[in-house]
Amino acid sequence: MKFKPEKYAINDEPGKAFIDEKEIWNYIETIKPSNNRVREVIQKALNKNRLTLEETAVLLNADDPELIDEIKKGARTLKERVYGNRIVLFAPLYIGNKCANNCLYCGFRSSNKDAIRQTLDDKEIVKEIEALEDNGQKRLILVYGEHRDYDADYIAHTVDLAYGVRKGNGEIRRVNINAAPLTSEGFRKVKDAGIGTYQIFQETYHKPTYERYHLSGKKADYDYRLTSLDRAQDVGLDDVGIGALFGLYDWRFEVMALVRHTNHLEACYNVGPHTISFPRIQSASNLDVDEKYFVSDDDFARLIAILRLAVPYTGMILTARETAKVRNEVIHFGVSQIDGGTKLELGSYAMNLNEKQDLNKEQFKVNDDRSLNTIIDELLDDDMLPSFCTACYRLGRTGEHFMEFSVPGFIKSKCTPNAILTLAEYVNDYAPDNTSHKAWKVIEKNLNDLNNEEMKKSVLERIEKINAGERDLYY
Ligand code: SAM
Ligand code: SF4
Repeated sequence: MKFKPEKYAINDEPGKAFIDEKEIWNYIETIKPSNNRVREVIQKALNKNRLTLEETAVLLNADDPELIDEIKKGARTLKERVYGNRIVLFAPLYIGNKCANNCLYCGFRSSNKDAIRQTLDDKEIVKEIEALEDNGQKRLILVYGEHRDYDADYIAHTVDLAYGVRKGNGEIRRVNINAAPLTSEGFRKVKDAGIGTYQIFQETYHKPTYERYHLSGKKADYDYRLTSLDRAQDVGLDDVGIGALFGLYDWRFEVMALVRHTNHLEACYNVGPHTISFPRIQSASNLDVDEKYFVSDDDFARLIAILRLAVPYTGMILTARETAKVRNEVIHFGVSQIDGGTKLELGSYAMNLNEKQDLNKEQFKVNDDRSLNTIIDELLDDDMLPSFCTACYRLGRTGEHFMEFSVPGFIKSKCTPNAILTLAEYVNDYAPDNTSHKAWKVIEKNLNDLNNEEMKKSVLERIEKINAGERDLYY
C-alpha cells in the first residue's frame, strides 16, 4: 500500500536531517480548528487514513474537554476496530549499563559517579533468560548503554545467546534491540543475527533542547541520531522503532515530530516505523532535568490517543515506567504492546530481586512492578487477549502491525488464532489455576467471535495438540 506523503516530505532525502523546527511550530501556532474540523479529522483516521502534519495539529489544538474526549473515544474505537482486543507482552533485559554519553535524564550517564556499572557475562545472560522463560516470556528487548564494549558484534552475540536458551518448554522467539545507533555495517550484523525491531528514540526532536541535555559522547550529535534509522533501512533492516522521551520539551512538538519522522521513513523507504514509543521521564539516579515540560497524566492520555489516530498502522508500546493505574487507563487508546514482570536492575530476573529498587543500579525507576502473571490476570479480567505471538516475524511477514491494519481479515485469520495458541501454551506451562480458568473462558469467547467454524475447528485442533505437549504452532 502506497502512502501519499505531504508535499514537502517527497523532497526528503535518505540520510538527510528532516526536522524543521519553524515548520512544526508554525502548524501548532496557526491552526485553530473548528469543532467540525476536529470531528472530520477523527473520522478520517477512523477510515484508516494516516493523518498529515496539519491534521495532527488540528487534534493537538483541540483543547475543549468535550473534543478531547471525542479524540480519546476515536482512538479507542480505532484500536478496537483495527486491532481488536489483543495485547502483546514482552520483557526488557538490560545487558550492560556502561555508557560513554552524558544524557542528563539517565542514571547510566557517564558523569553519574553513583551509578554501579555492570555488564552481564554470558553465563549471567543465560541465567536471566532462563528466569524470564520460567515466567513464560517469549519476546525480549535487549537494552544496552552506549559503549565501545557494546558494538554490533557484541550485540549480535547476545542475540545469538538469547535465541539459544531453552528451559523446559521455554524459548525466546523474538529479540528486539534498544541500543545506540550503529553504522550501516553494524546494522547489517545485527540484522543477520535475526533481530526483530531495532528501536532508537530521538529523545527530543527539538535541537536546542537536545543539545542542552546531551552534553558529550557520540549521542551529542543530533543529526547522527536523527538519521540513524535511515542507515538501518539502507541495509534492509526495515523493522525499526521510533520514540521520544516526553518531558524534555513541549509534548505537542514531539508528537508532530514523531509524525514527521514517520513521513520521512515513508517518503524515503516506503515503510513507516514498526513501533512508536512514548516514554515519560521517571526519577533516576542524579536526574538533572528541568520540570517545566513534564507531561501530566491527562496530557499523556491525550498524546497517546492523538498518536494512535495520526499513525493508525503502527504498533504502540507502553512500558512499566508508568504506574499500573495509568497503564490500565491509557492502554485502551491504542496501545498494542506492554512489558510485564519488568525488572531493570542488572541480573535481577535470576536473583528474583523485587524488593526495593536500587536506583544507582537502574536506568530509571519502574513504577509498575506487577508480575507477568498478575498483568495477564488483569488483562483477562478486562476482556483483553494477552498474546506472545511472533508468527509474522518468523514467517518473514515483516510489518506485522501494518498487515493487521491493511490486509482485510488478517486479524481473524492470523492474529487472534495465534494469540489464542500462545495463551494456551502459557496456560499449560506457567499459569496458576485461577489464571488458567479465566484464560480458557477468554479463549472460548474469542474463538466464538471469529465467526468462522472452519477456523475455530482448526484452532481447537491445535489447542488439543498444545494440551498434549506440542509447542510453537502458528498461522
Ligand atoms: N543507550 C541507548 C540509547 O540511549 O539509545 C539505549 C537506550 S536507553 C538504555 C533506553 C531509553 O530509556 C532511552 O532512549 C530513553 O528514552 C529512556 N530513558 C532514559 N532515561 C530515562 C528516565 N529517567 N526516565 C524514563 N526513560 C528514560
Ligand atoms: Fe547512555 Fe542511553 Fe542513558 Fe544516554 S540514555 S546515558 S546513551 S544509556
